Amino acid sequence: MRSLDDVFRALSRSAFRGKFHLRAQEQAYLQDRGLDQVLEHARRFVAERLAPASPRNDGKQTPYLGHPVFVAQHATACCCRGCLEKFHGIPRGLTLTSEQQDHVIAALERWLRAEEAQGMHKEADKWSSRKG
Ligand SMILES: [Zn+2]
Repeated sequence: MRSLDDVFRALSRSAFRGKFHLRAQEQAYLQDRGLDQVLEHARRFVAERLAPASPRNDGKQTPYLGHPVFVAQHATACCCRGCLEKFHGIPRGLTLTSEQQDHVIAALERWLRAEEAQGMHKEADKWSSRKG
């Protein structure tokens, strides 16, 4: 399994992964529920859809919209077992260990925190340009 720093370096070189950002609706959801609760949902999604040795519909199990965690999963290559293998060095065909699940959650958290910070910047820009 690769370190998160290595994974994020590889992600930053991928134009495809860089296209994913939270839309206003998902930002609002994250703000309303708070990161802790959203990460609890992430734990459940990962346990149910990603952790089994052969997840159902593997490769297509993660929607593109509707929940901030889904977007985070695509952005961080935690969307399916193929992407987990390619970017995170986590082999397919085996049930994810609790350590590997923690790693996935940590990747999602890191990305969501960065998006949250970016969203707040945008909000601040809006206010400062309104004043100017
Ligand atoms: Zn994938």
